[in-house]
Amino acid sequence: MKVLVLDTTLRDGEQTPGVSLTVEQKVMIAEALDALGVDIIEAGTAVSSEGEFKAIRAISEKGLRAEICSFARIKKEDIDAAADAGADSVFMVAPASEYHINAKFPGKGKDFVIQKSVEAIEYARERGLLVEFGAEDASRADLDFVVSLLKAGEEAKAERLTFADTVGVLTPERASEIVGRLKRELKAPVAIHCHDDFGLATANTVFAVKSGADEFHATVNGIGERAGNASLEEVCMVLDYLYGIEIGIKKEKLYPLSKLVEKFTRVVVPPNKPIVGENAFTHESGIHTSALLRDARTYEPISPETVGRKRVIVLGKHAGRASVEAILKEFGYSATREQMDEILARIKELGDLGKRVTDADVRAIAETVLQIKSEKKVKLEDLAILTGKNTTPMASVKLRINGEERVEAAIGVGPVDAAINAIRKAIKDYADIKLVSYHVDAITGGTDALVDVIVQLKRGNRIVTARGARTDIVMASVEAFVEGLNMLI
Ligand code: MN
Repeated sequence: MKVLVLDTTLRDGEQTPGVSLTVEQKVMIAEALDALGVDIIEAGTAVSSEGEFKAIRAISEKGLRAEICSFARIKKEDIDAAADAGADSVFMVAPASEYHINAKFPGKGKDFVIQKSVEAIEYARERGLLVEFGAEDASRADLDFVVSLLKAGEEAKAERLTFADTVGVLTPERASEIVGRLKRELKAPVAIHCHDDFGLATANTVFAVKSGADEFHATVNGIGERAGNASLEEVCMVLDYLYGIEIGIKKEKLYPLSKLVEKFTRVVVPPNKPIVGENAFTHESGIHTSALLRDARTYEPISPETVGRKRVIVLGKHAGRASVEAILKEFGYSATREQMDEILARIKELGDLGKRVTDADVRAIAETVLQIKSEKKVKLEDLAILTGKNTTPMASVKLRINGEERVEAAIGVGPVDAAINAIRKAIKDYADIKLVSYHVDAITGGTDALVDVIVQLKRGNRIVTARGARTDIVMASVEAFVEGLNMLI
């Protein structure tokens, strides 16, 4: 039987400190999750706020293939809110550990929790909801009680039963043992819900699935309370690639989904995060690149395209001959051995200064060394900015593109945005050029600091990086953008 995937990015993930998604953002993420192929989307907690209720309703109305689920406690109002919002199901949890029972139902005992749970499950079913019933903080609870609680849930006709490692204290061995026992004593499908407090969420989830769990919970980028939840992309790729367990996920959609969630939640994915981190398929050229360029399998376990990504080779002080040759070839240049030594030496010099070497830097260095005078296709002739407290930032630019003069003006949310918008208007014939990323560093301190702007521009499959360094941030940004255009046009 296929392992079911419950994604809780919109519920547990949204409980990440500082994260709050709008209804529209939640709908967009839900649609992307559906397209990815997850089976169950836990869309929020209907009872918790007006916004949550509206989001669950809007997602339910989308007619997605996935089951739409609302989180609920064993309380009538939680169940009513979920049903009224149009959810297909509830993920309903009951406290299982002493800590949780004493905090949530002081003075009451385990029997009370079982009785309340059975009533809540029966009520949810009356309201037409499918019930996934979970034992909260089960990993710190008496396992015999967890089994009795889940058994009672099964008898009350809960569809699926969840073991929640609420504070992330499971180990892979215990996860295996526990799931083994649950599978022996229960008939309904068993799900596992893990947190990453000790960095074991992925391992625990995988061991649970290997030991027979029928479903797992995860979030995109592993976001969630405290150290987060098991991360969807890691669990999916480990099961698929390392264990050969088919989970019916469109793997090539993992990276675009990760970027969407990163953008909306503003929780930045660490560069070294498996599968989706910026560096996961980035190689600094020099040490490994010549082998890599010959056969990518030398230094990549899976090809980046598998998860919807592209390989990136960055240059730095380890820059090697093979990678620089590859870049020169793109420009149609060739260098003698001595010229190449000189180009490499100059790139290393820049890298030693702690600078990230851009494609434009390599080109400029190569052109100097090779004595090539390349005619710039796009030239900035003039730039004027108007900004103020009660003024919408406005910019006008005069560009010369292939010898032809263009003058355009535009507004923006700030002066940099206005200037870039004006340039975009002037190059509207090249509308397929997209700004992928924009990065600013102040090189020195103070308001007169030199700022270093690095932009990444994309046209079709080609991505180039370019730099502008000035004391004026608007000029630095415009310079970087124009430099990038020159590489692409
Ligand atoms: Mn949780």
